[in-house]
Amino acid sequence: MILDAFRLDGKVAVVTGGGRGLGLGFSLALAQAGADVVIVDRTGSPEAVEAIEALGRRAWAIQADLLAATPEQVRELVEEIARTAGRIDVLVNNAGIIRREPAIDFTSENWAEVIDLNLSKVFYLSQAVARVMAARGEGGKIINIASMLSFQGGKIVPSYTASKSGIAGLTRALASEWSGLGINVNAIAPGYFATDNTAQLRADDTRSAEILARIPAGRWGTPADLQGAAVFLASPASDYVHGSILPVDGGWLTR
Ligand code: NAP
Repeated sequence: MILDAFRLDGKVAVVTGGGRGLGLGFSLALAQAGADVVIVDRTGSPEAVEAIEALGRRAWAIQADLLAATPEQVRELVEEIARTAGRIDVLVNNAGIIRREPAIDFTSENWAEVIDLNLSKVFYLSQAVARVMAARGEGGKIINIASMLSFQGGKIVPSYTASKSGIAGLTRALASEWSGLGINVNAIAPGYFATDNTAQLRADDTRSAEILARIPAGRWGTPADLQGAAVFLASPASDYVHGSILPVDGGWLTR
């Protein structure tokens, strides 16, 4: 039956930054669909673990600063997760940061850190997880979190726009190489969502009103708005979907 194709029973999903914001929404959605969830973030997120366990799933919080981690440490982290949870079926590359500063004054730190976490670490995590999936021979699902700035230039966020445009290319590059291994690599491109990531934007009355006026659906998104897309891309329902970038944006890109 078609709804069974959306179930994730017995699967293990890894969600970076899965303890708050959009990531918590992904963790809870995947758990509700049946998956056990491994959260990787800096804080350890005990409340998120409790919420997943309350759904009857296994949950782990692995504390790691992905920005500080070397590619070798990322590989070891992924191997540790596979040993702890027994397998990895889904990776959601959600952890991300943004820095706002006019390009003319943009610091090298604001450039390097955003590119490192939002793009380079997504590649190393995906590579390490794909090795685990390929070794097991059962394939899996990798979901990257893109942005409207995978398609547009944005304002005073040059490293973020570069990283998220890079995510669109990386999603296609990895999908092109790994679809033959049974690994689906796709991305979700959220529109404007009320989280810590957009707090500075929402605090600016002019910019906030400008954004709201441009969203055809007439409201900011909530983490729940992304949950259906995440379960779809994590589940067998999307087995023939490779390299897509799915906007969930209240119609933003239609304007
Ligand atoms: P958020 O509320 O700021 O949360 C960021 C998450 O990333 C947190 O869970 C955080 O973990 C984790 N993280 C940050 N730095 C990390 C590091 N060095 N190592 C490990 N984890 C780290 O952001 P969000 O709005 O939920 O965004 C989630 C993703 O969606 C990001 O990739 C973002 O670019 C993307 N996105 C967001 C929007 C939006 O409107 N909000 C729109 C498009 C795309 P800690 O709790 O440990 O700090």
